[in-house]
Amino acid sequence: MPLRRCVGCGRSKEKGELVRFVARDGRLTLDPARQGSLHGRGLYICPDFECVSKAVKRHRKKAIFSIALRESVAVPEAEELWQTIERTKK
Ligand SMILES: [Zn+2]
Repeated sequence: MPLRRCVGCGRSKEKGELVRFVARDGRLTLDPARQGSLHGRGLYICPDFECVSKAVKRHRKKAIFSIALRESVAVPEAEELWQTIERTKK
């Protein structure tokens, strides 16, 4: 299984252990299938609140989500982004 890097903690993990996001109409959008059913450049993050809040902080400083996706995306607050991930866990 290919490895992908979490934008929060920076660790590389198997794709299936991470959650994938893509940009859709300037918004950060979760790929519900996780494996890349939504086309386009994706970014990966651990399904872990610590990683999510770390990534959002890094985005506020350095626009890391927009850089990873190669387009400008609006990123919600960590709590909201986390809820989006939580909803897909079951
Ligand atoms: Zn992580």
